[in-house]
Amino acid sequence: MLYAEVVLPLAQPLYTFSLDERLDVGVGDAVVVQFGAKRYYTGIVWRISNTKPAYPRLKPIIKRLYSTPLLCEKEQRLWEWIAEYYLCTPGEVMRLALPSFTKPSALTLDDMDERSITPPTETFIALHPHLRTEEALAEYVARHERRAPRRTATMDLIANMAIERGTKDGFVARRLIDTDITHLAALRKLGLIVEEQRPIALPSSDAHNEFLLPTLSKAQSIALDQIRAAHANSLTTLLHGVTGSGKTEIYIHLIAEQLAAGRDVLMLVPEIVITSQLIERLERIFEGRITTYHSQLTPMRRGKNYLRLATSTGGELVVGVRSSIFLPLRHLGLIIVDEEHDASYKNSDSQPRYNARDCATMIGRIYGAQVVLGSATPSLESYMNALTGKYAYVELNERWGNATLPKVIISDTLRAAKRGERKIHFNLDLLNNIEESLENKEQVILFQNRRGYAPYVQCSTCGYSPRCPHCNVTLTQHKQSNLMECHYCGFTMPRPTVCPACNTQDIRSMGFGTEKVEEEISRLFPEARVARLDGDTSTSESAFRRIVHGVEQGETDILVGTQIVTKGFDFKGVTTVGILNADNLFTLPDFRASERAFQLITQVAGRAGRHNNHGRVVIQTSQPKHPVICYVATGDYHTMANTELREREAFGYPPYARLIRFMLHHANPTLLNNTANHFASLLRHRFQHRVMGPVAAAIEMLRGEHRVEITLKIESSLSMTSARSSIREAMKILATNAEHRNIKIEVDVDAL
Ligand code: ADP
Ligand code: ZN
Repeated sequence: MLYAEVVLPLAQPLYTFSLDERLDVGVGDAVVVQFGAKRYYTGIVWRISNTKPAYPRLKPIIKRLYSTPLLCEKEQRLWEWIAEYYLCTPGEVMRLALPSFTKPSALTLDDMDERSITPPTETFIALHPHLRTEEALAEYVARHERRAPRRTATMDLIANMAIERGTKDGFVARRLIDTDITHLAALRKLGLIVEEQRPIALPSSDAHNEFLLPTLSKAQSIALDQIRAAHANSLTTLLHGVTGSGKTEIYIHLIAEQLAAGRDVLMLVPEIVITSQLIERLERIFEGRITTYHSQLTPMRRGKNYLRLATSTGGELVVGVRSSIFLPLRHLGLIIVDEEHDASYKNSDSQPRYNARDCATMIGRIYGAQVVLGSATPSLESYMNALTGKYAYVELNERWGNATLPKVIISDTLRAAKRGERKIHFNLDLLNNIEESLENKEQVILFQNRRGYAPYVQCSTCGYSPRCPHCNVTLTQHKQSNLMECHYCGFTMPRPTVCPACNTQDIRSMGFGTEKVEEEISRLFPEARVARLDGDTSTSESAFRRIVHGVEQGETDILVGTQIVTKGFDFKGVTTVGILNADNLFTLPDFRASERAFQLITQVAGRAGRHNNHGRVVIQTSQPKHPVICYVATGDYHTMANTELREREAFGYPPYARLIRFMLHHANPTLLNNTANHFASLLRHRFQHRVMGPVAAAIEMLRGEHRVEITLKIESSLSMTSARSSIREAMKILATNAEHRNIKIEVDVDAL
């Protein structure tokens, strides 16, 4: 008899099961076990030994799922590292890492049937066997060309594509045939073509590996060589290239090299819907090779992608969001993290709160793969790593082609209001530039980082504002739905017309969100076609695509949006970008506020003039002399970064220290505060002045629960290994105490 330690998708340590040798189970295999009284789970075999553990009655491993292991030894190392670093159990890593489809759990054994690894299929077509020789086809075409030219042209097309991109028996994927679907239907009706469902044309080592690559500029070629050299020295590269410098073209060259050598490439992007443009660009070159991975795929599709990759022989290109770091790319040669500064790489709403960018560098080390972090506005963490020589630093200072960086116009809102140079929320500086763009048939992007009509409404007699009963934040007014909405929990109520506090009828909308900007700009430019891109208008991928296509096709003149419009878009016609209220960005009470504001403003400005040299960005602010505004105006990343770094060092903030944040929440505030105080004192015992709090969290109440935070600030010179074990000890003491164990502690290592 053998004994296997198994990871279950629970916040539990490893459990040991007995293992019948005849089951042919190995490390990394997914297996079915019974855990607790009734339930069956999928677990992953972590270790196997033949020494019987001390406890007497072990449950058996029931069976194995899948003919191939779900986890290889290198992936095990990654899970172990994440569990250790982010202070959680391997089971919690499993919960996030494996798509739910691959890890069934059920009340009965019958429902735990093996889900086979069937590769996803697509439609392939071929000419009827009689027409598959050149002579036969030529004869047919000659006979029918006059009467049915469209039909014969389509048949010619199919025959050509079958030679160029098809299989040996003359079948070719239908998506490669660029013709109207009705033509194909007509051919099928006449019996001239046949269709079959076949596995999606997957890359294989004998697939053609010649890609049509863009020619690089001098500056791009130099950068590419520097990245290669960095890898030769086993260094991660930080590619700092201004917006529009053509980082993507450099990635394309790196990707092609790896695919040609039969190795896998993982390209991480902040949010997949935002990068539909990028995927189209990659598709043109790596057609048929790209696997995408994101939350909008069905659970089944995600599961099948995982299973298919687990059996791949290499040459895969995956473009995906942060969770793609867990995909089984076992021939990994390259990881690209695009827009590495983006906060969405951090998993912020469940354990483990990993940062995919930081995991990527770890994965690079495990596989010996090349790692490239790219950004026009690098995070200070990565920049610091570049300064200290931990990363190679590659800079691209110019835009590609004839494009120049946009002209920055700083527009003082207070001064404009005083001089009567302001209409509602727009300074004349901005309106004049919008007008000029519209006259030249160019496009405009307006950025306001709040969705909805007004961030709050207020009674002008007594000052009352409606708040969320569950979250203690003001409710945002949405005009289209005529509702007040909580942006944290989704609670809604009708907009009050009478003040519930003083019964007067003078409730006013305060401030402005994207919905209001859209309404006002449409009124000011009645001829312009205005669209809005934010969480309310892009609720589905197709809605999102429609809006983006509208801008691409020139059907939209002015695009109003939230953060979404700051990310990665390459719209050729945009010449004016307006930032309606920059103050919002740098007045947040957060030590990262300046860095974030710089990144956001620079990124949204970077959407202007990407293909010409008269792009401009108008920044409306009441603090035109604010340092962040000055850095943006001069495009001086280095001064911004060095100044910020000096402050971080003086106050002991990252990257000079690590922040570990503990969030405790409970409906009962007395219980909560007791536990929080106790936990803080346990931590203080070991970490003294490095413990801050407990204090009420920024969102004090969420979904009816009170929330408090304790923050631990550990200087970089201190050993993290021993710090982590002290933290684990403190958490264990709490978990075994009857009074405190019901309050869950959520840990956030390297909190943002
Ligand atoms: P970044 O990601 O650095 O902001 P992009 O990669 O989107 O910049 O490039 C900006 C624009 O310039 C894109 O439209 C891209 O197609 C074009 N471009 C950049 N480099 C080249 C090149 N070497 N050949 C052709 N077009 C290029
Ligand atoms: Zn709420």
